[in-house]
Amino acid sequence: MQVTCLGAARTVTGSCFLLESNQTRILVDCGMFQGGKETKKRNASMKKYRPETLQHILVTHAHLDHSGLIPLVVKEGFKGSIICTKVTFELCKIMLLDSAHIQEMETEWQNRKNARSGKKPVEPLYTKEDAERSLSFFRPVDPGECYQVSPDIEICFHNAGHILGATYLEISFKEQGLESTVVFSGDIGRKGALLTGDPHIIKEADFLFIESTYGNRLHKSIDESKAEFLSVLREGIKSGEKIIIPAFAVERTQEILYILNEFRENGSISSIPVYLDSPLAIAATEIFKKYPEYFKLSVNHLIEEGDNPLDFPELIYTRTSEESMEINHRQGPAIIIAGSGMCNAGRIKHHLKHNLWRPGAHIVFMGFQAEGSLGRSIVNGAKKVRIFNEDVVVRAKVHTIGGFSAHADKKELLTWIGHFKNPKLEVFVVHGEESVCLDFAESVQNSLYLQVNVPQWLETVTLSPHKKTAVEPAPEVEDISHLFTSLEGQLRILRNYMEGTKDLEKEKVQHIKALIENTGKEMELLMKGNMDIKEG
Ligand SMILES: [Zn+2]
Ligand SMILES: [Zn+2]
Repeated sequence: MQVTCLGAARTVTGSCFLLESNQTRILVDCGMFQGGKETKKRNASMKKYRPETLQHILVTHAHLDHSGLIPLVVKEGFKGSIICTKVTFELCKIMLLDSAHIQEMETEWQNRKNARSGKKPVEPLYTKEDAERSLSFFRPVDPGECYQVSPDIEICFHNAGHILGATYLEISFKEQGLESTVVFSGDIGRKGALLTGDPHIIKEADFLFIESTYGNRLHKSIDESKAEFLSVLREGIKSGEKIIIPAFAVERTQEILYILNEFRENGSISSIPVYLDSPLAIAATEIFKKYPEYFKLSVNHLIEEGDNPLDFPELIYTRTSEESMEINHRQGPAIIIAGSGMCNAGRIKHHLKHNLWRPGAHIVFMGFQAEGSLGRSIVNGAKKVRIFNEDVVVRAKVHTIGGFSAHADKKELLTWIGHFKNPKLEVFVVHGEESVCLDFAESVQNSLYLQVNVPQWLETVTLSPHKKTAVEPAPEVEDISHLFTSLEGQLRILRNYMEGTKDLEKEKVQHIKALIENTGKEMELLMKGNMDIKEG
């Protein structure tokens, strides 16, 4: 099996992996490159990969960096099936149409500019019709189920947490009578997230493509982040100005609504208007409400009892652009949630233009900001930014609250990988900025003793064969698998070293033997002694 990394290799965005066996050509994810101009140029190269010969596209989840190029691939001749969970499909419906709308608007703007400077007009990456047409290729499935997608390939979708409907993929393939399993992590969520359940764990695989968005960072706890958010809100309400929250339409927006609902129910904040100023986020919220069974149990129970935590009296949906513009004329404090999450498009740009220069305003970033995005410049402390061809000074207070991330952090990722029992698991670190991928690869090597690669963009790797797998829900008790994986790895390396190296120095051998014997004795004492550890 050959895997070509068409995206999310040493970058966060553009997740796309081409799998080729003797009988099958499949894409895992079909994501859009987002961020700076240079990164975006890569989007146009999709046609080179002969979409007409692909049998399937497997989509881990609805975020555009995993799904955003589907309309383009369909436009370029793809005729197979696009497989993902029902919620992912519903979310893709609204997100791909919205993305097409943005492509069309940006092209229109570019072409006006081109006309003025005597340049040729350009075409959008894809249009709303392309997006519409691509929807007919979707085949929604349920998470936890497995499907034979071709004679040599079986796929299973497993719950990844992250956002509603998100999955990671277990793909078993046969070659020359041998069977192997490769896992594509998609995006792995956090344990104890507000709305989605914990990512399921998987114990057996031969190869793993693991995301590393936050592979070099530790998140604050959700409770700490809530406290941080509350103090920003109180400060903002006191200043009497607007509190602007650029938010991703899916999951982050609903999480913010969930927390705001909690704050007002327990009296932590006074009652002020909350504008959900994003048709996309409004549509996503409606989809969330339609699939309560995809939420984690505690939230599901609340909904069943009739208390929808995504709804409260002060919440105002602003669907039309007139309603949106009206927000700017209203005095007094208000919370405005608008997209896009990285401030590159959408209504958030208007709110930033009207508020960034106001010293009393507050801008609260609660999501990932890619290199090259407007959001990243503001977070990095730019004194002035350019919005709609106008310089805007940054005088508002800018806050970054990272603890609500939908991505597992370094420790959580290592723990998740630690569940794999195969000491020969080969790991490919992807979906992270280059320096982060490299850092995280080192962590995997140093703490889990697994073989690690960090593929380049367009690099092809060959996965060659073994056996079968089992998936389980995440355990309720403290997760210590990584400790054992680490210890087992260390022992394996020592053993290989001692068995495989001739002419070892006697002193060194004695030292290592003593060390192992002592550790063995300590463990024996621990198990026999005062800790009530029994076998079984
Ligand atoms: Zn994602
Ligand atoms: Zn992603």
